[in-house]
Amino acid sequence: NGREEEAKDLEGEEKSKTRVTHNIVFVTSEAAPYSKTGGLGDVCGSLPIALADRGHRVMVVSPRYISGGPSDKNYAGAEDLNCRIKISCFGGLQEVSFFHEYRAGVDWVFVDHPSYHRPGNPYGDIHGAYGDNQFRFTLLCHAACEAPLVLPLGGFTYGEKSLFLVNDWHAGLVPVLLAAKYRSHGVYKDARSILVIHNLAHQGVEPATTYENLGLPTEWYGALEWVFPTWARTHALDKGEAVNILKGAVVTADRILTVSQGYSWEITTVEGGYGLNELLSSRKSVLNGITNGIDVTEWDPASDKLIDFHYSMDDLSGKVKCKTALQKELGLPVRPDCPMIGFIGRLDYQKGTDLIQAGMPDLMQDDVQFVMLGSGDKQTEDWMRATESTYKDKFRGWVGFNVPISHKITAGCDILLMPSRFEPCGLNQLYAMRYGTVPVVHCTGGLRDTVENFNPYAQEGSGQGTGWTFSPLCKESMLGALRYAIETYRKHKTSWEGLMRRGMERDYTWGNAASQYEQVFDWAFFDQP
Ligand code: ADP
Repeated sequence: NGREEEAKDLEGEEKSKTRVTHNIVFVTSEAAPYSKTGGLGDVCGSLPIALADRGHRVMVVSPRYISGGPSDKNYAGAEDLNCRIKISCFGGLQEVSFFHEYRAGVDWVFVDHPSYHRPGNPYGDIHGAYGDNQFRFTLLCHAACEAPLVLPLGGFTYGEKSLFLVNDWHAGLVPVLLAAKYRSHGVYKDARSILVIHNLAHQGVEPATTYENLGLPTEWYGALEWVFPTWARTHALDKGEAVNILKGAVVTADRILTVSQGYSWEITTVEGGYGLNELLSSRKSVLNGITNGIDVTEWDPASDKLIDFHYSMDDLSGKVKCKTALQKELGLPVRPDCPMIGFIGRLDYQKGTDLIQAGMPDLMQDDVQFVMLGSGDKQTEDWMRATESTYKDKFRGWVGFNVPISHKITAGCDILLMPSRFEPCGLNQLYAMRYGTVPVVHCTGGLRDTVENFNPYAQEGSGQGTGWTFSPLCKESMLGALRYAIETYRKHKTSWEGLMRRGMERDYTWGNAASQYEQVFDWAFFDQP
Protein backbone atom coordinates (compact mmCIF):
# COMPACT_ATOMS: atom_id res chain seq x y z
CA ASN A 1 0.00 0.00 0.00
CA GLY A 2 2.88 2.28 0.76
CA ARG A 3 4.01 1.81 -2.82
CA GLU A 4 0.55 2.57 -4.16
CA GLU A 5 0.46 5.79 -2.21
CA GLU A 6 3.89 6.69 -3.54
CA ALA A 7 2.66 6.01 -7.06
CA LYS A 8 -0.37 8.22 -6.46
CA ASP A 9 1.90 10.95 -5.15
CA LEU A 10 4.01 10.61 -8.28
CA GLU A 11 1.04 10.96 -10.58
CA GLY A 12 -0.72 13.61 -8.57
CA GLU A 13 -0.70 17.36 -8.94
CA GLU A 14 2.56 19.08 -8.23
CA LYS A 15 2.70 19.98 -4.57
CA SER A 16 2.12 23.59 -3.72
CA LYS A 17 5.20 23.78 -1.47
CA THR A 18 8.20 25.75 -2.69
CA ARG A 19 10.31 23.51 -4.84
CA VAL A 20 13.80 22.61 -3.65
CA THR A 21 16.38 22.89 -6.40
CA HIS A 22 19.32 20.53 -6.71
CA ASN A 23 22.71 20.27 -8.32
CA ILE A 24 22.08 17.32 -10.60
CA VAL A 25 24.75 15.26 -12.35
CA PHE A 26 23.58 12.88 -15.09
CA VAL A 27 26.06 10.14 -15.89
CA THR A 28 25.33 8.40 -19.18
CA SER A 29 26.94 6.58 -22.07
CA GLU A 30 24.84 8.56 -24.57
CA ALA A 31 23.08 11.92 -24.80
CA ALA A 32 21.39 13.23 -27.96
CA PRO A 33 22.22 15.12 -30.09
CA TYR A 34 25.87 14.37 -29.27
CA SER A 35 25.49 10.59 -29.22
CA LYS A 36 22.50 8.29 -29.59
CA THR A 37 21.84 4.64 -30.38
CA GLY A 38 18.42 4.39 -28.74
CA GLY A 39 16.03 5.74 -26.13
CA LEU A 40 18.75 6.30 -23.51
CA GLY A 41 20.26 8.98 -25.76
CA ASP A 42 16.88 10.66 -26.24
CA VAL A 43 16.12 10.69 -22.51
CA CYS A 44 19.54 12.01 -21.47
CA GLY A 45 19.31 14.66 -24.18
CA SER A 46 15.89 15.96 -23.07
CA LEU A 47 15.27 15.34 -19.37
CA PRO A 48 18.31 17.43 -18.27
CA ILE A 49 16.92 20.41 -20.20
CA ALA A 50 13.45 19.94 -18.68
CA LEU A 51 14.98 19.86 -15.18
CA ALA A 52 17.15 22.92 -15.87
CA ASP A 53 13.99 24.73 -17.04
CA ARG A 54 12.52 24.03 -13.63
CA GLY A 55 15.37 25.77 -11.83
CA HIS A 56 17.84 22.97 -11.13
CA ARG A 57 21.54 23.24 -11.93
CA VAL A 58 22.18 20.35 -14.30
CA MET A 59 25.33 18.74 -15.65
CA VAL A 60 25.46 15.76 -18.03
CA VAL A 61 28.67 13.74 -18.09
CA SER A 62 29.21 11.43 -21.05
CA PRO A 63 32.16 10.34 -23.22
CA ARG A 64 33.46 12.44 -26.10
CA TYR A 65 33.10 9.92 -28.91
CA ILE A 66 35.19 10.85 -31.93
CA SER A 67 34.59 8.50 -34.84
CA GLY A 68 36.23 10.34 -37.72
CA GLY A 69 32.77 10.66 -39.32
CA PRO A 70 30.16 13.42 -39.71
CA SER A 71 28.88 12.96 -36.13
CA ASP A 72 32.13 14.50 -34.81
CA LYS A 73 30.70 17.91 -35.60
CA ASN A 74 28.17 17.33 -32.80
CA TYR A 75 30.97 18.22 -30.38
CA ALA A 76 32.02 21.37 -32.27
CA GLY A 77 30.59 23.65 -29.58
CA ALA A 78 32.39 21.88 -26.72
CA GLU A 79 35.60 23.52 -25.53
CA ASP A 80 38.56 21.93 -23.82
CA LEU A 81 38.41 22.94 -20.15
CA ASN A 82 42.14 22.27 -19.83
CA CYS A 83 41.48 20.18 -16.78
CA ARG A 84 43.28 16.86 -16.72
CA ILE A 85 42.87 14.31 -13.96
CA LYS A 86 44.55 10.99 -13.33
CA ILE A 87 42.38 8.03 -12.45
CA SER A 88 43.82 5.07 -10.61
CA CYS A 89 42.42 1.92 -12.19
CA PHE A 90 43.38 -0.94 -14.50
CA GLY A 91 46.86 -1.19 -13.02
CA GLY A 92 47.96 2.38 -13.60
CA LEU A 93 47.09 6.06 -13.71
CA GLN A 94 44.78 6.87 -16.64
CA GLU A 95 44.64 10.47 -17.73
CA VAL A 96 41.34 11.92 -18.91
CA SER A 97 40.38 15.49 -19.76
CA PHE A 98 37.08 17.37 -19.91
CA PHE A 99 35.32 19.29 -22.66
CA HIS A 100 32.30 21.49 -21.96
CA GLU A 101 29.41 23.16 -23.72
CA TYR A 102 26.73 25.22 -21.98
CA ARG A 103 23.57 24.75 -24.03
CA ALA A 104 19.85 25.04 -23.25
CA GLY A 105 20.64 25.82 -19.61
CA VAL A 106 22.63 22.60 -19.13
CA ASP A 107 26.36 21.97 -18.61
CA TRP A 108 27.22 19.24 -21.14
CA VAL A 109 30.51 17.74 -19.99
CA PHE A 110 32.42 15.32 -22.21
CA VAL A 111 35.12 13.07 -20.84
CA ASP A 112 37.94 12.69 -23.31
CA HIS A 113 40.20 9.65 -23.59
CA PRO A 114 41.75 7.85 -26.60
CA SER A 115 39.52 4.78 -25.97
CA TYR A 116 36.48 6.90 -26.97
CA HIS A 117 38.02 7.73 -30.36
CA ARG A 118 36.91 4.90 -32.62
CA PRO A 119 35.03 4.59 -35.90
CA GLY A 120 32.12 2.50 -34.56
CA ASN A 121 29.18 3.44 -32.32
CA PRO A 122 29.52 4.03 -28.54
CA TYR A 123 29.59 0.32 -27.75
CA GLY A 124 31.11 -1.50 -30.68
CA ASP A 125 31.69 -1.77 -34.40
CA ILE A 126 30.98 -4.21 -37.23
CA HIS A 127 32.97 -6.89 -35.37
CA GLY A 128 30.73 -6.67 -32.29
CA ALA A 129 31.02 -5.05 -28.85
CA TYR A 130 34.40 -3.57 -27.92
CA GLY A 131 36.40 -5.89 -25.67
CA ASP A 132 37.38 -3.06 -23.31
CA ASN A 133 33.96 -1.58 -22.53
CA GLN A 134 34.44 -2.28 -18.83
CA PHE A 135 37.57 -0.10 -18.98
CA ARG A 136 35.94 2.66 -21.01
CA PHE A 137 32.93 2.99 -18.73
CA THR A 138 34.97 2.60 -15.54
CA LEU A 139 36.84 5.72 -16.68
CA LEU A 140 33.53 7.49 -17.30
CA CYS A 141 32.33 6.73 -13.75
CA HIS A 142 35.52 7.83 -12.02
CA ALA A 143 35.63 11.01 -14.10
CA ALA A 144 31.95 11.73 -13.38
CA CYS A 145 32.57 11.45 -9.63
CA GLU A 146 35.41 13.95 -9.90
CA ALA A 147 33.61 16.41 -12.19
CA PRO A 148 31.43 18.11 -9.51
CA LEU A 149 34.51 18.53 -7.31
CA VAL A 150 37.01 19.83 -9.85
CA LEU A 151 35.16 21.64 -12.67
CA PRO A 152 34.37 25.30 -11.95
CA LEU A 153 31.53 25.53 -14.47
CA GLY A 154 30.30 29.10 -14.78
CA GLY A 155 32.75 29.94 -11.99
CA PHE A 156 31.48 27.46 -9.37
CA THR A 157 31.82 23.75 -8.87
CA TYR A 158 28.67 21.68 -8.34
CA GLY A 159 30.13 20.54 -5.03
CA GLU A 160 29.59 17.66 -2.68
CA LYS A 161 25.83 17.93 -2.24
CA SER A 162 25.22 16.78 -5.77
CA LEU A 163 22.50 14.41 -6.87
CA PHE A 164 23.79 11.78 -9.30
CA LEU A 165 21.39 10.33 -11.86
CA VAL A 166 23.12 7.16 -12.90
CA ASN A 167 21.86 5.65 -16.15
CA ASP A 168 22.18 1.91 -16.84
CA TRP A 169 25.23 -0.26 -16.21
CA HIS A 170 27.69 2.03 -17.97
CA ALA A 171 27.27 4.54 -15.15
CA GLY A 172 26.69 1.89 -12.50
CA LEU A 173 30.02 2.25 -10.72
CA VAL A 174 29.12 5.80 -9.63
CA PRO A 175 27.02 4.88 -6.55
CA VAL A 176 29.53 2.16 -5.67
CA LEU A 177 32.38 4.69 -5.82
CA LEU A 178 30.40 7.18 -3.74
CA ALA A 179 29.88 4.55 -1.06
CA ALA A 180 33.24 2.78 -1.19
CA LYS A 181 35.76 5.42 -2.19
CA TYR A 182 34.38 8.83 -1.27
CA ARG A 183 32.00 8.59 1.72
CA SER A 184 34.45 6.47 3.66
CA HIS A 185 36.83 9.45 3.43
CA GLY A 186 34.22 11.98 4.42
CA VAL A 187 33.58 13.22 0.86
CA TYR A 188 30.09 13.30 -0.72
CA LYS A 189 28.46 12.58 2.65
CA ASP A 190 25.46 14.67 1.60
CA ALA A 191 25.32 13.50 -2.01
CA ARG A 192 22.61 11.14 -3.25
CA SER A 193 22.43 8.76 -6.17
CA ILE A 194 19.48 7.48 -8.17
CA LEU A 195 19.96 4.54 -10.50
CA VAL A 196 17.77 4.88 -13.59
CA ILE A 197 17.25 1.53 -15.32
CA HIS A 198 16.49 1.91 -19.03
CA ASN A 199 17.23 -1.71 -19.86
CA LEU A 200 17.95 -4.45 -17.32
CA ALA A 201 19.10 -6.91 -19.96
CA HIS A 202 22.56 -5.32 -20.06
CA GLN A 203 24.37 -5.44 -16.73
CA GLY A 204 28.11 -5.10 -17.38
CA VAL A 205 29.10 -8.62 -16.33
CA GLU A 206 32.77 -9.58 -16.60
CA PRO A 207 35.04 -12.23 -15.01
CA ALA A 208 35.58 -11.85 -11.27
CA THR A 209 39.31 -11.36 -11.84
CA THR A 210 38.58 -7.94 -13.36
CA TYR A 211 37.40 -6.59 -9.99
CA GLU A 212 40.91 -5.47 -9.04
CA ASN A 213 40.95 -3.21 -12.13
CA LEU A 214 37.98 -1.12 -11.11
CA GLY A 215 39.71 1.09 -8.56
CA LEU A 216 37.53 -0.08 -5.68
CA PRO A 217 38.66 -1.20 -2.20
CA THR A 218 39.04 -4.99 -1.96
CA GLU A 219 36.49 -5.27 0.84
CA TRP A 220 33.71 -3.99 -1.45
CA TYR A 221 33.91 -7.04 -3.71
CA GLY A 222 30.66 -8.37 -2.28
CA ALA A 223 28.69 -5.46 -3.72
CA LEU A 224 29.55 -6.55 -7.26
CA GLU A 225 29.87 -10.28 -6.66
CA TRP A 226 27.84 -12.36 -9.09
CA VAL A 227 27.58 -16.10 -9.40
CA PHE A 228 26.16 -17.61 -12.57
CA PRO A 229 23.73 -20.49 -12.17
CA THR A 230 25.28 -23.89 -12.95
CA TRP A 231 23.55 -24.20 -16.34
CA ALA A 232 25.17 -20.96 -17.52
CA ARG A 233 28.73 -22.12 -16.84
CA THR A 234 30.93 -23.07 -19.74
CA HIS A 235 32.96 -25.99 -18.35
CA ALA A 236 33.38 -28.15 -15.25
CA LEU A 237 36.07 -25.92 -13.70
CA ASP A 238 34.04 -22.77 -14.24
CA LYS A 239 32.81 -21.69 -10.81
CA GLY A 240 30.54 -19.08 -12.38
CA GLU A 241 32.20 -16.22 -10.53
CA ALA A 242 31.81 -12.79 -12.07
CA VAL A 243 31.41 -9.13 -11.26
CA ASN A 244 28.17 -7.40 -12.18
CA ILE A 245 28.33 -3.61 -12.29
CA LEU A 246 24.57 -3.04 -12.46
CA LYS A 247 24.14 -5.24 -9.41
CA GLY A 248 26.64 -3.02 -7.58
CA ALA A 249 24.51 -0.02 -8.46
CA VAL A 250 21.28 -1.71 -7.33
CA VAL A 251 22.92 -2.46 -3.98
CA THR A 252 24.41 0.99 -3.36
CA ALA A 253 22.12 3.58 -5.02
CA ASP A 254 19.91 5.60 -2.70
CA ARG A 255 16.91 5.09 -4.94
CA ILE A 256 16.08 3.17 -8.12
CA LEU A 257 13.89 4.29 -11.00
CA THR A 258 12.75 2.61 -14.16
CA VAL A 259 11.42 4.36 -17.26
CA SER A 260 7.82 3.22 -16.77
CA GLN A 261 5.75 1.98 -13.84
CA GLY A 262 4.96 -1.30 -15.55
CA TYR A 263 8.65 -2.04 -16.00
CA SER A 264 9.40 -1.28 -12.33
CA TRP A 265 7.13 -4.19 -11.46
CA GLU A 266 8.32 -6.47 -14.26
CA ILE A 267 11.94 -6.32 -13.12
CA THR A 268 10.94 -7.76 -9.76
CA THR A 269 9.55 -10.89 -11.45
CA VAL A 270 11.51 -13.99 -12.48
CA GLU A 271 10.54 -13.44 -16.13
CA GLY A 272 11.67 -9.81 -16.30
CA GLY A 273 14.36 -9.66 -13.64
CA TYR A 274 17.34 -11.10 -15.53
CA GLY A 275 18.65 -12.69 -12.36
CA LEU A 276 18.32 -9.47 -10.35
CA ASN A 277 14.62 -9.88 -9.48
CA GLU A 278 15.13 -10.96 -5.87
CA LEU A 279 17.61 -8.21 -5.18
CA LEU A 280 15.33 -5.64 -6.80
CA SER A 281 12.36 -6.96 -4.81
CA SER A 282 14.38 -6.48 -1.63
CA ARG A 283 14.77 -2.80 -2.62
CA LYS A 284 11.07 -2.30 -3.47
CA SER A 285 10.71 0.45 -0.89
CA VAL A 286 13.00 2.70 -2.96
CA LEU A 287 11.94 1.49 -6.42
CA ASN A 288 9.58 3.51 -8.64
CA GLY A 289 8.78 3.98 -12.31
CA ILE A 290 8.31 7.21 -14.27
CA THR A 291 7.24 7.11 -17.91
CA ASN A 292 9.63 8.90 -20.24
CA GLY A 293 8.53 12.07 -21.96
CA ILE A 294 9.27 12.99 -25.55
CA ASP A 295 10.97 16.02 -27.03
CA VAL A 296 7.98 17.79 -28.56
CA THR A 297 10.14 20.41 -30.25
CA GLU A 298 11.82 17.69 -32.29
CA TRP A 299 8.72 15.50 -32.63
CA ASP A 300 5.79 17.68 -33.66
CA PRO A 301 3.86 17.01 -36.89
CA ALA A 302 2.97 20.71 -37.10
CA SER A 303 6.56 21.90 -37.31
CA ASP A 304 8.87 18.88 -37.86
CA LYS A 305 11.64 19.98 -40.24
CA LEU A 306 12.31 16.42 -41.39
CA ILE A 307 8.87 15.76 -42.92
CA ASP A 308 7.57 17.12 -46.22
CA PHE A 309 4.08 18.24 -45.11
CA HIS A 310 2.73 19.41 -41.79
CA TYR A 311 -0.51 18.66 -39.99
CA SER A 312 -2.20 18.92 -36.61
CA MET A 313 -5.40 18.00 -34.77
CA ASP A 314 -7.13 20.95 -36.46
CA ASP A 315 -6.16 19.91 -39.95
CA LEU A 316 -5.12 16.30 -40.54
CA SER A 317 -4.91 16.65 -44.32
CA GLY A 318 -1.09 16.84 -44.35
CA LYS A 319 -0.80 13.28 -43.03
CA VAL A 320 -1.88 11.54 -46.23
CA LYS A 321 0.49 13.83 -48.14
CA CYS A 322 3.32 12.61 -45.90
CA LYS A 323 2.22 9.07 -46.73
CA THR A 324 2.32 9.52 -50.49
CA ALA A 325 5.68 11.36 -50.21
CA LEU A 326 7.03 8.38 -48.26
CA GLN A 327 5.67 5.91 -50.81
CA LYS A 328 7.34 7.93 -53.58
CA GLU A 329 10.64 8.11 -51.73
CA LEU A 330 10.60 4.35 -51.08
CA GLY A 331 9.59 3.50 -54.65
CA LEU A 332 6.35 1.85 -53.52
CA PRO A 333 3.11 2.27 -55.51
CA VAL A 334 1.63 5.66 -54.54
CA ARG A 335 -1.70 4.64 -53.02
CA PRO A 336 -3.18 6.93 -50.38
CA ASP A 337 -5.87 4.36 -49.48
CA CYS A 338 -3.56 1.38 -48.92
CA PRO A 339 -2.88 0.70 -45.21
CA MET A 340 0.78 1.37 -44.53
CA ILE A 341 2.47 -0.30 -41.57
CA GLY A 342 5.86 0.76 -40.15
CA PHE A 343 8.51 -0.60 -37.81
CA ILE A 344 11.44 1.43 -36.44
CA GLY A 345 14.02 0.10 -34.01
CA ARG A 346 17.12 -1.86 -33.16
CA LEU A 347 17.07 -5.27 -34.86
CA ASP A 348 17.31 -7.25 -31.68
CA TYR A 349 15.64 -10.19 -29.98
CA GLN A 350 14.12 -7.67 -27.53
CA LYS A 351 12.21 -5.94 -30.32
CA GLY A 352 10.46 -9.11 -31.51
CA THR A 353 11.70 -8.84 -35.10
CA ASP A 354 11.57 -12.65 -35.33
CA LEU A 355 7.79 -12.37 -34.99
CA ILE A 356 7.65 -9.87 -37.83
CA GLN A 357 9.64 -12.30 -39.97
CA ALA A 358 7.34 -15.18 -39.04
CA GLY A 359 4.19 -13.17 -39.77
CA MET A 360 5.30 -11.50 -43.01
CA PRO A 361 4.20 -14.19 -45.53
CA ASP A 362 0.66 -14.09 -44.07
CA LEU A 363 0.57 -10.32 -43.88
CA MET A 364 1.79 -9.94 -47.45
CA GLN A 365 -1.31 -11.85 -48.66
CA ASP A 366 -3.25 -8.73 -47.73
CA ASP A 367 -3.38 -5.47 -49.66
CA VAL A 368 -0.97 -3.56 -47.38
CA GLN A 369 2.44 -1.90 -47.51
CA PHE A 370 5.13 -2.44 -44.88
CA VAL A 371 8.26 -0.39 -44.24
CA MET A 372 10.92 -1.42 -41.77
CA LEU A 373 13.84 0.75 -40.57
CA GLY A 374 16.55 -0.67 -38.35
CA SER A 375 20.02 -2.02 -37.92
CA GLY A 376 21.62 -4.60 -35.69
CA ASP A 377 21.24 -8.34 -36.05
CA LYS A 378 22.84 -9.36 -39.37
CA GLN A 379 20.42 -12.20 -40.08
CA THR A 380 17.49 -9.80 -39.78
CA GLU A 381 19.22 -7.22 -41.98
CA ASP A 382 19.72 -9.91 -44.67
CA TRP A 383 16.11 -11.00 -44.28
CA MET A 384 14.94 -7.40 -44.81
CA ARG A 385 16.91 -7.17 -48.07
CA ALA A 386 15.63 -10.54 -49.28
CA THR A 387 12.01 -9.75 -48.34
CA GLU A 388 12.20 -6.51 -50.29
CA SER A 389 13.02 -8.41 -53.47
CA THR A 390 10.27 -10.98 -52.82
CA TYR A 391 7.55 -8.36 -52.26
CA LYS A 392 8.71 -5.52 -54.51
CA ASP A 393 5.39 -3.65 -54.45
CA LYS A 394 4.67 -4.10 -50.78
CA PHE A 395 7.76 -4.24 -48.57
CA ARG A 396 10.71 -1.95 -48.00
CA GLY A 397 13.55 -2.72 -45.60
CA TRP A 398 15.83 0.25 -44.81
CA VAL A 399 18.95 -1.10 -43.14
CA GLY A 400 20.73 1.57 -41.12
CA PHE A 401 20.30 4.26 -38.48
CA ASN A 402 18.60 7.21 -40.14
CA VAL A 403 16.81 9.88 -38.11
CA PRO A 404 15.17 11.75 -41.05
CA ILE A 405 13.68 8.50 -42.38
CA SER A 406 12.45 7.60 -38.88
CA HIS A 407 10.46 10.87 -38.83
CA LYS A 408 9.08 10.26 -42.33
CA ILE A 409 7.94 6.74 -41.40
CA THR A 410 6.36 7.99 -38.17
CA ALA A 411 4.42 10.64 -40.07
CA GLY A 412 3.65 8.69 -43.25
CA CYS A 413 2.47 5.31 -41.92
CA ASP A 414 -1.03 4.57 -40.68
CA ILE A 415 0.06 1.90 -38.19
CA LEU A 416 3.27 1.44 -36.18
CA LEU A 417 4.03 -2.14 -35.15
CA MET A 418 6.01 -2.86 -31.95
CA PRO A 419 6.01 -6.57 -31.03
CA SER A 420 8.71 -6.05 -28.36
CA ARG A 421 9.38 -9.03 -26.11
CA PHE A 422 9.94 -6.56 -23.29
CA GLU A 423 9.97 -2.78 -23.45
CA PRO A 424 11.15 -0.68 -20.49
CA CYS A 425 9.34 2.36 -21.88
CA GLY A 426 9.53 2.59 -25.65
CA LEU A 427 9.56 5.95 -27.39
CA ASN A 428 8.42 5.11 -30.90
CA GLN A 429 4.83 4.41 -29.81
CA LEU A 430 4.78 7.84 -28.12
CA TYR A 431 6.10 9.56 -31.27
CA ALA A 432 3.61 7.56 -33.36
CA MET A 433 0.60 8.61 -31.27
CA ARG A 434 1.68 12.24 -31.47
CA TYR A 435 1.77 11.89 -35.28
CA GLY A 436 -1.67 10.25 -35.51
CA THR A 437 -0.09 6.91 -36.38
CA VAL A 438 -1.89 4.14 -34.55
CA PRO A 439 0.36 1.80 -32.53
CA VAL A 440 -0.13 -1.97 -32.51
CA VAL A 441 2.04 -3.25 -29.66
CA HIS A 442 2.74 -6.26 -27.49
CA CYS A 443 1.11 -5.69 -24.11
CA THR A 444 4.28 -5.32 -22.03
CA GLY A 445 6.18 -2.78 -19.88
CA GLY A 446 5.96 0.80 -21.04
CA LEU A 447 3.88 -0.21 -24.07
CA ARG A 448 1.12 -1.45 -21.79
CA ASP A 449 1.36 1.74 -19.73
CA THR A 450 1.11 4.12 -22.67
CA VAL A 451 -1.08 2.51 -25.36
CA GLU A 452 -4.74 2.07 -24.48
CA ASN A 453 -6.42 -0.84 -26.25
CA PHE A 454 -9.18 0.13 -28.70
CA ASN A 455 -12.75 -0.41 -27.58
CA PRO A 456 -15.28 0.65 -30.26
CA TYR A 457 -18.29 0.31 -27.92
CA ALA A 458 -17.12 2.53 -25.06
CA GLN A 459 -18.22 6.15 -24.61
CA GLU A 460 -21.70 5.34 -25.94
CA GLY A 461 -20.33 4.01 -29.18
CA SER A 462 -17.89 6.78 -29.95
CA GLY A 463 -14.99 4.54 -28.94
CA GLN A 464 -12.06 4.62 -26.60
CA GLY A 465 -8.36 3.80 -26.77
CA THR A 466 -5.31 4.82 -28.79
CA GLY A 467 -4.20 1.57 -30.43
CA TRP A 468 -4.03 -2.20 -30.05
CA THR A 469 -2.19 -4.07 -27.27
CA PHE A 470 -1.91 -7.75 -28.14
CA SER A 471 -1.04 -10.68 -25.93
CA PRO A 472 0.34 -13.34 -25.73
CA LEU A 473 3.48 -12.70 -27.74
CA CYS A 474 2.97 -14.94 -30.75
CA LYS A 475 2.53 -14.55 -34.48
CA GLU A 476 -1.20 -15.31 -34.37
CA SER A 477 -2.08 -12.68 -31.79
CA MET A 478 0.13 -10.08 -33.53
CA LEU A 479 -1.55 -10.80 -36.88
CA GLY A 480 -4.99 -10.78 -35.22
CA ALA A 481 -4.39 -7.27 -33.83
CA LEU A 482 -2.96 -6.06 -37.15
CA ARG A 483 -5.95 -7.40 -39.09
CA TYR A 484 -8.36 -5.73 -36.68
CA ALA A 485 -6.43 -2.45 -37.13
CA ILE A 486 -6.38 -2.80 -40.93
CA GLU A 487 -10.13 -3.53 -41.06
CA THR A 488 -10.87 -0.54 -38.86
CA TYR A 489 -8.70 1.67 -41.07
CA ARG A 490 -10.50 0.45 -44.22
CA LYS A 491 -14.09 0.28 -43.09
CA HIS A 492 -14.58 2.54 -40.08
CA LYS A 493 -13.11 5.91 -40.94
CA THR A 494 -14.76 7.67 -37.98
CA SER A 495 -13.40 5.14 -35.50
CA TRP A 496 -9.98 5.48 -37.10
CA GLU A 497 -9.98 9.23 -36.84
CA GLY A 498 -11.04 8.87 -33.18
CA LEU A 499 -8.04 6.62 -32.56
CA MET A 500 -5.73 9.12 -34.24
CA ARG A 501 -7.09 12.11 -32.35
CA ARG A 502 -7.05 10.45 -28.93
CA GLY A 503 -3.41 9.49 -29.49
CA MET A 504 -2.48 12.99 -30.63
CA GLU A 505 -4.13 14.49 -27.55
CA ARG A 506 -2.05 12.53 -25.07
CA ASP A 507 0.42 14.59 -23.05
CA TYR A 508 3.85 12.99 -22.98
CA THR A 509 5.83 16.20 -22.62
CA TRP A 510 8.91 16.12 -20.40
CA GLY A 511 7.51 18.73 -18.01
CA ASN A 512 5.10 16.16 -16.60
CA ALA A 513 7.83 13.51 -16.15
CA ALA A 514 10.28 16.07 -14.73
CA SER A 515 7.87 16.99 -11.92
CA GLN A 516 7.63 13.29 -11.00
CA TYR A 517 11.43 13.07 -10.95
CA GLU A 518 11.45 15.98 -8.50
CA GLN A 519 9.22 14.02 -6.15
CA VAL A 520 11.75 11.18 -6.19
CA PHE A 521 14.61 13.67 -5.59
CA ASP A 522 12.80 14.80 -2.44
CA TRP A 523 12.44 11.22 -1.29
CA ALA A 524 16.15 10.64 -1.93
CA PHE A 525 17.19 13.58 0.23
CA PHE A 526 14.51 13.74 2.88
CA ASP A 527 12.84 10.34 3.19
CA GLN A 528 15.71 7.93 3.54
CA PRO A 529 14.31 4.55 4.57
P1 ADP B 1 15.58 1.38 -27.30
O1 ADP B 1 16.13 2.42 -26.37
O2 ADP B 1 15.34 0.05 -26.67
O3 ADP B 1 16.38 1.25 -28.56
P2 ADP B 1 13.28 3.18 -27.58
O4 ADP B 1 11.97 3.01 -28.28
O5 ADP B 1 13.22 3.60 -26.16
O6 ADP B 1 14.12 1.84 -27.78
O7 ADP B 1 14.11 4.30 -28.35
C1 ADP B 1 14.63 4.12 -29.61
C2 ADP B 1 15.04 5.46 -30.19
O8 ADP B 1 16.00 5.23 -31.21
C3 ADP B 1 13.91 6.19 -30.84
O9 ADP B 1 14.14 7.58 -30.82
C4 ADP B 1 13.97 5.66 -32.29
O10 ADP B 1 13.35 6.49 -33.21
C5 ADP B 1 15.45 5.60 -32.48
N1 ADP B 1 15.86 4.61 -33.47
C6 ADP B 1 15.98 3.27 -33.30
N2 ADP B 1 16.43 2.68 -34.43
C7 ADP B 1 16.59 3.68 -35.33
C8 ADP B 1 17.03 3.72 -36.69
N3 ADP B 1 17.38 2.62 -37.34
N4 ADP B 1 17.09 4.94 -37.31
C9 ADP B 1 16.74 6.05 -36.64
N5 ADP B 1 16.31 6.08 -35.36
C10 ADP B 1 16.24 4.91 -34.72
